[in-house]
Amino acid sequence: MKPQSGRLAFPEDENRHPWLALLLEIQHLTNQGVSKAIKADGRKLACGRGCASCCRTHTDIPVYPLELMGIAWYASEKLSGELRDRVRQQLLQHRDLGACPFLVDEACAIHPLRPMACRQFNVFNTVCAVGEDAFHTRLADVLKPDLKLKNEALREMLRHHKITDGRERRRLVETGEVHRLAQSLREMRWETLAARMAALPAPRPV
Ligand code: SF4
Ligand code: SF4
Repeated sequence: MKPQSGRLAFPEDENRHPWLALLLEIQHLTNQGVSKAIKADGRKLACGRGCASCCRTHTDIPVYPLELMGIAWYASEKLSGELRDRVRQQLLQHRDLGACPFLVDEACAIHPLRPMACRQFNVFNTVCAVGEDAFHTRLADVLKPDLKLKNEALREMLRHHKITDGRERRRLVETGEVHRLAQSLREMRWETLAARMAALPAPRPV
């Protein structure tokens, strides 16, 4: 698959893992849907580096099977050094953390491969207060991603599930049935990924 211009690319890994190219295309579509909506809205986003209270507050972040493959790949094959050790420890303790296990020092350790839901949740105007879920407290400030691009990303994801018929993919997205594929990020059995990270040699830091 020839990458769309502007999307993240890992050429060697994409050759080894053909599903990765599809995931990166989907993420690119998702990012485009977010950028387009921010531009159309015209307000200033409150979200920024080091702001991560949503990674604690949100306990129902959906993650799709293809996204889980991407997270597992990135964590086990790309993270190195202290960050790798911290993530592995947090994956083992994830039930007691009160935060997403990938949140390290107020930053997302898997940022390039973070799920669609994390990419799409953005808030305008004011930074969220500790414990605030702006979706419930001030929905008008929550970004609504461009629906056409968001749905296109979901339809593309269905290719991973061998659903090639365009009309069926459209139906599954428009009826919301596609969301049945998702699991809750916070409720995953992350110990399995921690074990995989321990078994694989860490890459050399770049
Ligand atoms: S959603 Fe709220 S907590 Fe999360 S980055 Fe944006 S402003 Fe910060
Ligand atoms: S995956 Fe990253 S962005 Fe999403 S909740 Fe976890 S730390 Fe936050």
